[in-house]
Parts: sequence; C-alpha cells; structure tokens
Amino acid sequence: MSYKLYIPGPIAVSEKTLRAMAQPMIGHRSTDFVALYQSLQADLQTLAYTKDPVYLSTSSAWGMMEASIRNLVKKKVLNCMNGAFSDKWLDVSQRCGKQATGLKFEWGQPVDPEAVRKELATGTYDAITIIHNETSCGCMSDIAAIMAVIREFPEVLSIVDTVSSFSAVPIKKDELGIDVLITGSQKALALPPGLALCSVSKRALERAATMTDRGYYFDFVEFQKNHENGMTPSTPVIPLIYALKSKLEDIKAEGIETRYARHLRLNKKVRDWAFGKGFKLFPKEGFGSVTLNCFANTLNIDLPAFNKVLKSKHKLVIDGGYGKLKGKTFRISNMGDETDETIAALITSLDSAFAETPKLQA
Ligand SMILES: *Cc1c(COP(=O)(O)O)cnc(C)c1O
Repeated sequence: MSYKLYIPGPIAVSEKTLRAMAQPMIGHRSTDFVALYQSLQADLQTLAYTKDPVYLSTSSAWGMMEASIRNLVKKKVLNCMNGAFSDKWLDVSQRCGKQATGLKFEWGQPVDPEAVRKELATGTYDAITIIHNETSCGCMSDIAAIMAVIREFPEVLSIVDTVSSFSAVPIKKDELGIDVLITGSQKALALPPGLALCSVSKRALERAATMTDRGYYFDFVEFQKNHENGMTPSTPVIPLIYALKSKLEDIKAEGIETRYARHLRLNKKVRDWAFGKGFKLFPKEGFGSVTLNCFANTLNIDLPAFNKVLKSKHKLVIDGGYGKLKGKTFRISNMGDETDETIAALITSLDSAFAETPKLQA
C-alpha cells in the first residue's frame, strides 16, 4: 500500500517530518513543553504576518472554524459560499445556533468584493467568514480586495480560512486586518492531520470575552490564558507539534519567497501539462489556485479508470472531483514539499496513464 498522494489533502508527508514525530513524550505542563511551544511562536507569526499569538489546537481545521463562530458571532454572521468547505460553514453557523446568511456564488467563482460590500452595508452583521482558497474547486479568491471592503465595516470581525494556502502564498494578516486566520496541518503545511493553527486579533478576543456559551474546548479566552504561559488548554497532540517545529525549520531553510515561487512554478507546470492535452481550468480565469489545480474534465475521460492506472502502475493518487463535481473535474495538488523533480515525475506518469485512459461516450 505504498503510493504517493497528489489529492489536495491530506498530502504527502516527508520522511523528515515523520521522523520528527517519533520523539519521546514530554509533559504538557513541563518546562520542556513551554520551551517547545514558545520556540514556535516567532516563526508562526512571521508566516502569518502578524503580531497576534498563534494558538495550537488539537483538532482539524473545522475545530477552529466552529470556534470562531461560537466565540465571535453575537448578532449575525455572513458566510461567503463558493465551494464545499465554504458552503458547509453556513450549516455550521446554524448548528451553533447563530443568525447566519449565506452569500452564494457558483462553485469555482471567487467571492465578489462588491457583493460583500452590498450585504455588509445592511448593517446587520458583526462577523464574516471567507475561505481564501476553496480547495473543493481550486478557486482562490482575492483576499486583499475582499479585506479592503471588510475594513469599511469596523463592527464586522473577519474570519479567514487559509487551510490550503497558508505558507504557499503570502497572506498578510495584520496588514489586511484579518481578525481570525485559520489553517490546518494536512494541506499547505504538509503535516499529518490533527493540528489546527489559529491566530486571533485583540479585538476579536475582546468580543469573545463578552460572549456566553463559548463552551470550553474551543474557547479563545482559554487559549489566550494558556498561551500566555506557553501552553494549550488541554493535552495537545505533541507529536504533531514536533512535526510543526521540523516543518518551520524546513521553511526557514528554503526561504519563504523561494517557497512562494516554487508553488507558483510547480502549479504552472501541472497546468501546462493539462492545457496541452486540451483540459481547461474549472475555476474562473484568473482565480485558479496556486496550490492545486482543479481541471474541468472537458475531454470526458474515464476519471476512475485514469486514477486506477495512476494508482496501480504509477503508485500515485489524484482526486477525481469533490462532491457534486465528481467525474466532472479532477484535482491535483502541488502543495507542500513538491519539487521540480517530483512534479516532472508526476507529469511523466500522468502522460502515460492518460494515453491508456478511454474517453466516455457523451
Ligand atoms: C480541508 C479543508 C477544510 C477542512 O479541514 P479539516 O482538517 O478536515 O477540518 C477546511 N477548509 C478548507 C479550505 C479545506 O481545504
């Protein structure tokens, strides 16, 4: 069962990262843990372009996405929807008992800043959720333009999911005025699943402190109190924190600008391969993600057959379309630790498997 993942999460994890996890346990209230926790902060803040703390949550990203709703939405939240993950956020808001409205766009269309302005101008909202990079359909919204609009509404706290874009493209949290920036471990950071990172602004913490029913496990106030002592509210997933430390070393060694450029370059290589075959990008032109490509299956190839050959002969797996896009699109990740060499090998495999994949009758 040895094959490499090119699905957009979870993604392949390097040997170095896996080895970093295999270290002796330490007590989560020990000075060793405090030293470990505190040693990560400066690098995480640099990656998020923020002076705010970056909390470590033992949960997948959804834990912190739900936390943001429970901690910050007093009046009503606007959930921007343009794919599977952002659509789900409206459901989560409602399940948390909040007043919520969905601002809906077709899957593959970016969040439109003008539509955000029009809706926020109603004055009924005190929070908004946005997914920067909608992994389900490979659509990357213009977060700078959206944040410029949100800053016109100082009462609205902004919650931005960067699960599949964090550290792959610059997202300048403080400069853009993002109140809550969330990411997970198993996508752009190329770690195993189970850890979420969340950076919360001062004014968002102030709002949280006035909220009732924040619960305990995902209470930002608890996260902050523990953060000040170099700890987490409950026992954290220490192996993944070791892995995160190792990954931050990798990122530093590569250099962040080099890392951004690498994602852009490798993304284009995969895109050029598919364009050469006659496929088109699924998302709106100019809004294709740089950490994955979601292609429309314009040639109507048998995607399950394609993936079967890729897995059995080439020992790799791509994604055959998310949810309602199954069979209509396919997605290939280039996030994490991919190199010019691994992407060249991927393309050789794609080429070979494509040649033996039948087209479906229309
Ligand atoms: C994968 C993903 C999520 C959900 O992450 P979990 O780790 O499963 O909670 C949320 N948002 C985006 C953009 C994602 O790609």
